[in-house]
Amino acid sequence: MRPPSRPGIAMRFRFTPEQQAFRQEVLDFLAENLPPEPEGKLDDRLRGEMGWSGEFSLKLAAKNWVALPWPKEYGGLGGTAMQQVIFNEEMSYHRAPIGAHRRGVFYVGPILILYGTDEQKKKHLNAVTSGTGYYCQLFSEPGAGSDLASLQTRAIRDGDDYVVSGQKIWTSDGHRADYGWLVARTDPDAPKHKGISTFILDMKSPGVTVRPLVNMAGSHSFNEVFFDNVRVPKENMVGEENRGWYHAAATLDFERSSIAVFAGTRRFLDDLAAVLRERPRSNSVRHSIADLYTTVLVGQMLSYSIGSMQEAGRVPNKEASAAKLLSSELRQNASIAAIKALGLEGQVEDGPGAVRYGRYARDYLANVSATIAGGTSEIQRNVIATRGLGLPRG
Ligand SMILES: Cc1cc2nc3c(=O)[nH]c(=O)nc-3n(C[C@H](O)[C@H](O)[C@H](O)COP(=O)(O)OP(=O)(O)OC[C@H]3O[C@@H](n4cnc5c(N)ncnc54)[C@H](O)[C@@H]3O)c2cc1C
Repeated sequence: MRPPSRPGIAMRFRFTPEQQAFRQEVLDFLAENLPPEPEGKLDDRLRGEMGWSGEFSLKLAAKNWVALPWPKEYGGLGGTAMQQVIFNEEMSYHRAPIGAHRRGVFYVGPILILYGTDEQKKKHLNAVTSGTGYYCQLFSEPGAGSDLASLQTRAIRDGDDYVVSGQKIWTSDGHRADYGWLVARTDPDAPKHKGISTFILDMKSPGVTVRPLVNMAGSHSFNEVFFDNVRVPKENMVGEENRGWYHAAATLDFERSSIAVFAGTRRFLDDLAAVLRERPRSNSVRHSIADLYTTVLVGQMLSYSIGSMQEAGRVPNKEASAAKLLSSELRQNASIAAIKALGLEGQVEDGPGAVRYGRYARDYLANVSATIAGGTSEIQRNVIATRGLGLPRG
């Protein structure tokens, strides 16, 4: 007897012929334009960080691929959410150096598309899509990370300007950015979520000081940024005064599938498998790699389902947090598994004994932060448990 049909349970997932053709176009582009990984020298890509190549950004810009879902009038392709997922997947798997424009695309562009003036859009969206403008995100402070609404940096109106004073921290690429997306307190007397505004700040403004923070893997990727009475023209405010918290929250509706991390981890495990094929290891090592690979495959499907939700106009909330949680813990666990599998050899960072130029040692150190950056694992669990599943706080 056939089991009764269960409407809504059956699922058939397949990329459309157009999506498959687009993936092939991306692969062809990469085959022709991907800069080779340097032999014997650690660049950002081998350190487990996002590579930076202004030249590669310009090549993407020539195809309107820097920010492909953005409107054509701002240099995008007017592409779909699924196209962006496919694009991010292939860029990440092939370790394409997209670091130069990445923050402009994923952080700064969305707020401008939703709330920017025509002038702001014309200037900044075009700077991003032309591959010539570099941006950073000025959110976290020494006393405000997960609880960002506690931020203390002030922006006080003075004539046609706001005068900004305070400090930000962990500002990735702050030392290379032309502009930063700043959140600052404009009404200290309002409840904490209600007195915040957002601005685009010229990083060359007098009074801005950027100091490097070198991470435990020895890379300079983030910074401290200090503001000493920095004048920001009022035209640089994005959206309404004191509505910045709500404006920033709305940008979470943009690409949030975490596909880049799943694809990057798949590549990491493929490479690790190639190294381990020459170094037979115990069953438990082989099984741990197999478990990680299984989670990669599950994660990819989760990312695709988030992409298709977004394509259907739905906002992934608990799903996006689940993908961030799963992907960042997976990435960290893959780094740990590699170090365990390679033993002492894997810990050598330099010299003739270093496996693949010491990438595994660096990668292990670089990925300790995977479960902190972009919202910690505990915060993702809070979102899934409370907003997602409606579990009351104890
Ligand atoms: C590699 C990297 C790059 C970054 N880049 C940027 C950037 O470009 N711009 C920017 O503005 N920021 C950036 N950050 C900062 C990042 O957003 C914060 O580090 C993150 O939000 C956590 O904040 P925090 O460091 O203040 O830790 P805290 O919020 O102080 O958290 C400390 C610990 O307490 C836990 N915790 C906090 N609140 C809760 C809670 N309610 N329930 C349960 N546990 C909780 C956390 O999970 C964590 O384990 C970056 C961070 C890293 C690591």
